[in-house]
Amino acid sequence: MGLPLAEIFEEFSDLDREDQSKYLLELGDDLPLFPPALRTEANRVYGCQSQVWLSADVSGHGDNAVIRILADSDSNIVRGLIAILQSAYDGMTASEILSYDIQAVFRQLNLQQHISPQRRNGLRGMVERIQLLARKHAVSFELSAEESASVAGAVLPLCPAPRFDVLQIRRQFPVLNRPLGDGRFPVYLDSGASSQKPACVIEKEREVEEQYYANAHRGTYQFGVRIDEEFESARELTANFLGARSADEIVFTAGTTAGLNLIAFGWALPRLRPGDEILTTVMEHHANFVPWQQVAIRTGARLKLIPLTSDGRLDASAFDSVFTEKVRLVAVTAMSNMLGTINPIREIARRCRQINACLVVDGAQSVPHLPANVAADEVDFLVFSGHKIYGPTGVGVVYGRQSRLEEMEPVMFGGHMISEVTTERSVWSRPPAKFEAGTMPIVQVIGLGAAIRWLQQLGLAAVHQHEEQLTRLLFDGLREIPGLRIFGPAPEHRGAIVSFRIDGVHPEDLAALLDSHGVFTRHGHHCTMPLHAHLGIAGSTRVSFGVYNTADDVQAFLKALNQARQQLQ
Ligand code: PLP
Repeated sequence: MGLPLAEIFEEFSDLDREDQSKYLLELGDDLPLFPPALRTEANRVYGCQSQVWLSADVSGHGDNAVIRILADSDSNIVRGLIAILQSAYDGMTASEILSYDIQAVFRQLNLQQHISPQRRNGLRGMVERIQLLARKHAVSFELSAEESASVAGAVLPLCPAPRFDVLQIRRQFPVLNRPLGDGRFPVYLDSGASSQKPACVIEKEREVEEQYYANAHRGTYQFGVRIDEEFESARELTANFLGARSADEIVFTAGTTAGLNLIAFGWALPRLRPGDEILTTVMEHHANFVPWQQVAIRTGARLKLIPLTSDGRLDASAFDSVFTEKVRLVAVTAMSNMLGTINPIREIARRCRQINACLVVDGAQSVPHLPANVAADEVDFLVFSGHKIYGPTGVGVVYGRQSRLEEMEPVMFGGHMISEVTTERSVWSRPPAKFEAGTMPIVQVIGLGAAIRWLQQLGLAAVHQHEEQLTRLLFDGLREIPGLRIFGPAPEHRGAIVSFRIDGVHPEDLAALLDSHGVFTRHGHHCTMPLHAHLGIAGSTRVSFGVYNTADDVQAFLKALNQARQQLQ
């Protein structure tokens, strides 16, 4: 297949960047035909700017299966890169592929120096897909359910997934392994407010600060090039993680609140007119309620609510009457930060398409806990925060379908978001730069990339399964407590959040007593005052889990709760 690698080495390594591109184009011209039937979504490799499909022809079984890489792209340079990969892996068995140092090949070709950060990401995506295919065939490796799904067609996780071992995961969180003043270890049950960070995220931020920090998209010196590469790689990772069609659909912001305000004032405000309707719900966090209320006040549009069932779910029987032609925008959380309810985003998206409404999904609580697939779900916007997904504060993401980002106006003006400025007027850059004015939270964006990569390794399906078990355990314990009312639906309809009240116990007093046991929970209205009013309460106690919580945490919480209740009631 193709040229022998040795020949490529000889011809390629000494070429300058321009001649390397020409050479890649020539290699690409000679790429063997990729069967059109294999150009499926299942075989798409994300992480590349161009379209890439990759599959394999396998002969034999287990570790000795010989894997022949088949791939194609709509970019001729990428076809050239594919030709190099085919030559490098030519005739290898699954286990040989897995132990092969492909980076050494790239180093010897001097390839990394000469291709753009986007192409480098694409190349990495292809290598990881090849390794995944090899692991699928090697008997000594077992694929997680999520990896099998990705080989079968879902979005590719970029790293191999280890088994979900909560104690091993917990050990990666320095703050959870430091004793409190009384020698106890913290029982952290407030990940819904903000999650803790694993050592790899803390280390990544330190690495940037200590080794190559510079502004992003500014300098062409070595630090600047490295920073741009890391920054854009975080964008690629995020796009891949969310199942976006392109990294250009990922806009970095300061967090969910900033992202939702961008959409409210950049997309909705210039568009909505008196008589139009914004459809939302009473369970929204203020961040996904107040901006729409403001847009409604300023445009004369009407804010309309999807009714809830008595157990705190969206009332599907009311959908026909609320999804009407007047609705221009639907803003809904994928998972309630108080009730824990998981909302049917796919069905809502379907309804939105029928009435041509724009769908904005608040993913602040769902994205850290449930698999997302924005392209398959057909949402227009999805927003989340870095600090709830084991990443840094001060950074968040707006996924915007490309056509919606093109339509949206910027709301921040300044450097980087322009392509031309004269004394009379300015022309905006294309998205995502159009919405990234000024110096970005560079270290945080890169830290977020590290967090996403880490979470992908765990596999969100496994994360959800683990957290669901904790939620059920908690439910069982809470149900035994007299006078305790849980808000929201049964565990099968919710994520890793449970809010409750106990008759005669003030949530603030309870939180203080739990704290004295080293158990950290949240109390109050959780930025959902309309929801608390709807439930007829002023506040509640909230337990929210993260990947690091254990069954022991649940038991410690229940024990502390029972003691506190006896003291307070
Ligand atoms: N939306 C939901 C559902 C939330 O839970 C939160 C934070 O708790 C937000 C939005 C706001 O996120 P941030 O404070 O990171 O902007």
